[in-house]
Amino acid sequence: MRVGSGFDVHAFGPGEHVMLGGVRVPHTHGVLAHSDGDVLLHALTDALLGAAGLGDIGQHFRDTDPRWKGADSARFVQAVLAMLRERGLRVGNADVTLIAERPKVGPYRDAIRARIAELLEVSGQAVNVKATTTERLGFLGRTEGLAAQAVVLLLESP
Ligand code: MG
Repeated sequence: MRVGSGFDVHAFGPGEHVMLGGVRVPHTHGVLAHSDGDVLLHALTDALLGAAGLGDIGQHFRDTDPRWKGADSARFVQAVLAMLRERGLRVGNADVTLIAERPKVGPYRDAIRARIAELLEVSGQAVNVKATTTERLGFLGRTEGLAAQAVVLLLESP
């Protein structure tokens, strides 16, 4: 068994939706990012890479690479999952947390869980989606952006 953690932040910018766990969530802002700026999937990608001892998302998917301009962040997760498969690793479970005052994820939580489970090729029971605020403190509390944390457990494939 191998454990990994990931963390990501994106600032709000112009737009009317944010991508969270591969799900389009309407919002008063978008995020500033080279890719689609999906903080949950970026934190998850880093957790997967961390658990496998493969560095971080910036090493594999440079934010100056035109290939990743506006990219669907699901591609990062899928690419890393392929690396894991080559190494005989699969996901045991994943626990992701969105840290933000807004948008509220409640109405989208089930869809996010289902999409992450699909990307990780595990059942919905193996994925947990949490959300919290910073009690209006700091840059997240001032609704300047979004943050996410992820923890994953990898198992050796039988
Ligand atoms: Mg990011």
